[in-house]
Amino acid sequence: MNVITAPSAGFCWGVERAIEIARKHAGGEQRVYTDGPLIHNRQMMEQLEAEGISEVGDFQSQAPLHLEKGEDGVMVVRAHGVSPQRRAYLKSLGMQFKDATCPDVGIIAGKVKLHARKGYQVVIFGDPKHPEVIGILGYAVSGGHVIRNDKDIAALPDLGDKVCMVSQSTMFVDEFHRLAKLLKDRFSEAIIIDTICGATRERQDDIGHLIKKGVEAVVVVGGRHSANTIKLASLVERKGLPAYHVESPAELDVESLKRYELVGLTAGASTPAYLIDAVREKLEAS
Ligand code: SF4
Repeated sequence: MNVITAPSAGFCWGVERAIEIARKHAGGEQRVYTDGPLIHNRQMMEQLEAEGISEVGDFQSQAPLHLEKGEDGVMVVRAHGVSPQRRAYLKSLGMQFKDATCPDVGIIAGKVKLHARKGYQVVIFGDPKHPEVIGILGYAVSGGHVIRNDKDIAALPDLGDKVCMVSQSTMFVDEFHRLAKLLKDRFSEAIIIDTICGATRERQDDIGHLIKKGVEAVVVVGGRHSANTIKLASLVERKGLPAYHVESPAELDVESLKRYELVGLTAGASTPAYLIDAVREKLEAS
């Protein structure tokens, strides 16, 4: 089978940066902790655990941590960021505090904070259960609303004339602009700020490029909880091709894939290169 790999497949700069920050402090006397998964890739988190970087807390970074106050460790904030309330809580633990929030997420938080201070109601296009959205919502103080679709926009209360819309960093670009238009129909003065990150756009654009090259199906490698990986698989299907979302080569349905001569390969922004290489090798050998 012939395989074309998307140039953007794998780690984005925000994930690389977060891993680098955590690794810089690992391997010494101190334990390194991350509040929830540093990135959404199970295999990579297992590898980091072996290097002395332990995930504590829950998936959404909301539950109290079972750590001794003042423990001689290093607390690293996940790439998805946390709310200001959570940040204050983590700092109150008295450990060294290192912030690995992706700067692109930090920009969204900054825009939300600025507009909330000016009295705007903030509408966030995203998944209300995703840790990035939970973190950003904290900056909207009491004026935050999460929407996923048309129905959610229709259900918004009257927000007045000071409304600002942003997006979770990993959403579909076209869907954001469609919903922004709908929001404008309800709140004509709404300020729309497209905060989908460059890495997400690049990965979504590359799906189109793979399809133009004639691939018959696309294998997407990445974590089951990785928002951008899930979006990539869903984008492939929206464009009319079969998508095979796998976390590792062991999950590849080789028998089913054998019917294709040319297959595209991409991966979420938190997928390590060794997993992409292993999947490609298995595909090429079948
Ligand atoms: S996907 Fe975008 S926002 Fe998320 S870590 Fe990567 S660069 Fe940052």
